[in-house]
Amino acid sequence: MDDSQKNDRELIWHPFTSFTETPDPIFIDSAEGIYLHTTDGRRIIDAVSSWWVNLHGHSHPVIAAAIAHQARTLEHVIFAGFTHEPAITLAKNLKRILPLNQSKIFFSDNGSTAVEVALKMALQYWYNLGVKKERIIALKGAYHGDTFGSMSVGGRSIFSDPFSGYLFNVEFIDFPDTMNAEKAIQQFRELLATGDIGAFIFEPLVQGASGMRMYTPAVLDQLLSAAQEKGVICIADEVFTGFGRTGKMFASHYLSAMPDIMAVSKGITGGAMALGVTTCSAKIVDAFRTGDFTKTFFHGHSYTANPIACAAANASFELLTAPACDAQLTLIAGEHLRFASKIKGHKHIKEVRSLGTILAIELRTGEDTSYSNELRKKIYPFFLDRNILLRPLGNIIYILPPYVIKAGELHQIYACIEEFLSSDLLL
Ligand code: PLP
Repeated sequence: MDDSQKNDRELIWHPFTSFTETPDPIFIDSAEGIYLHTTDGRRIIDAVSSWWVNLHGHSHPVIAAAIAHQARTLEHVIFAGFTHEPAITLAKNLKRILPLNQSKIFFSDNGSTAVEVALKMALQYWYNLGVKKERIIALKGAYHGDTFGSMSVGGRSIFSDPFSGYLFNVEFIDFPDTMNAEKAIQQFRELLATGDIGAFIFEPLVQGASGMRMYTPAVLDQLLSAAQEKGVICIADEVFTGFGRTGKMFASHYLSAMPDIMAVSKGITGGAMALGVTTCSAKIVDAFRTGDFTKTFFHGHSYTANPIACAAANASFELLTAPACDAQLTLIAGEHLRFASKIKGHKHIKEVRSLGTILAIELRTGEDTSYSNELRKKIYPFFLDRNILLRPLGNIIYILPPYVIKAGELHQIYACIEEFLSSDLLL
């Protein structure tokens, strides 16, 4: 163990990382495109886009230049009572790509805060109207982040167990995949009929952290139209699915209905800076347009709308909306589909799922599918030894690459997955 690693071990507490079960972290000196460069000269393919944030490859020169320019011009300013060009440009850019009904942009710092803001907006909407609708519906297995509000609307799991007594009550309906859609819609309608549901929060079409579980736009449309008929505020958590991940700019673009509130983060800056955004329709804003000071939305963070983060987001937006990026999304989706149909039916595979740039392979194991499935301990090192970063969700391998990946590089990852499938590790 060298000095840096010793210092890391001694001083740093890493996320989602056990103190005893984990090998030393890998030291990364630099990164370019899809590759992470280690101190000892390895080039590791970042096949999970560094927790789903990276879109255009690492250290992208256009984003780096925008950040450098902004840092020299205006690094930060309080965002209450003041404003700046990067935030206004970003708001205009987002308006161009969001579902048409989204009319206001509220800035925060990450996905969890974007969700917290969304929940608070929805709950205060009813408070400001003087209507008691305090219950929230969510989907079983959901993951919306690690703050208390976002944990409360997430499925209960080992992530939230230590805090279970502190989480507020939420009505969870079954995950509406093909097997359970009818039952879930029925549960949903029964809850709506009680008349005191204020909001419905969901990850549109794909539940990321619970294993890239997918459901159809048709089912989600049914849920949304049933909810909106009753005036229930629908919150799309697009923190993971936003900015092209599912093949369209937002997963909500697969739907006929439009959410009332959206939470976005992750890919917004192309993966370069921390930024969260909550957007909402005019209906929500109207409930806050009042002369009554006590009905103000009293929420904010020190770094709200940080100009450097906004500048990175604006640079990423230009790359994302260029035709070359669209071509890459099509390429990745096509390659994923071809590989999915090639390996479907393999004896070790329970299910292969794919949507846009996301490919998930659920492996058969003696244990239940879960985040703590022991198979993860074999999957992660197997790929890392071959210089591919795949961070499985238990027994689920997924690929979710930066959009700049080339077909040959995808084939390299697929070949490695086939090698894993035929290895004796799965016996
Ligand atoms: N919502 C969804 C759907 C997510 O997938 C995540 C993170 O994975 C979050 C919210 C939380 O985002 P963050 O990790 O930036 O707080």
